[in-house]
Amino acid sequence: MIKTVVWGENVHEQTNKTVAEIYPNGMHGCIAESLNNDPEIQATTATLQEPEHGLSEARLADTDVLIWWGHAAHGDVSDEVAERVVRHVWSGMGLLLLHSAHFAKVFKLLMGTACNLTWREAGERERLWVTSRNHPIVHGLPDYFELENEEMYGEPFSVPEPLETVLISWFQGGEVFRSGLTYKRGAGNVFYFRPGHETYPTYHDANVQRVLKNAVHWAHNSAARVQQVTDAPNRPVEQSIEPLIARGAKLHEAGEDGFK
Ligand code: ZN
Repeated sequence: MIKTVVWGENVHEQTNKTVAEIYPNGMHGCIAESLNNDPEIQATTATLQEPEHGLSEARLADTDVLIWWGHAAHGDVSDEVAERVVRHVWSGMGLLLLHSAHFAKVFKLLMGTACNLTWREAGERERLWVTSRNHPIVHGLPDYFELENEEMYGEPFSVPEPLETVLISWFQGGEVFRSGLTYKRGAGNVFYFRPGHETYPTYHDANVQRVLKNAVHWAHNSAARVQQVTDAPNRPVEQSIEPLIARGAKLHEAGEDGFK
């Protein structure tokens, strides 16, 4: 069973009538419900408003894949929780970033770049092309699929060159965008998936739901979580594997602990 947590910012659902009508249980609720149709996935939800945003150390330690949707309140996510999520990704937790999560603290920390793009809200058609036919994230998808109404995101998308580009979008207004990108960060598999503007029913779309299910399976790292992922232990001369005589000036005397 792949333990999956769908994290929703849960702001638009509370403040915008259109969004509340499309997603009465929140976007996170809709995504979790569709994932739970897969007998190998056990999806639960967490939101910004919960203590520690629903992402305590214990919860993350028990999470195989985390899914993140955010937009209006990236700045309200505590640095402590964002850094905690990143540490769990480094140790092997999978992470899917959806739509405007390109500006989420967790994504920017993991990418190390500005992650900016161009955008337009005109309800235009998006056509997503599969660019990596045999990739597990696009299993069962046609060569392309369309979303009749979406927000446009356009290149240049200032992210590091991905491991794989799995999907590319074309928009009715003419722009293109790399819509499905994979990364490895530490032991963690990371996938950015573009669609999902809050005022359109994107997460009800069967092809979008298939991508998310496939991506959960792809991101799941079944190996044991890496422990002490941020430690940098010293290996003193007297414990070297082969006999070794120390030479040259020594900056750090034995027992000194000022440099790590
Ligand atoms: Zn949007």
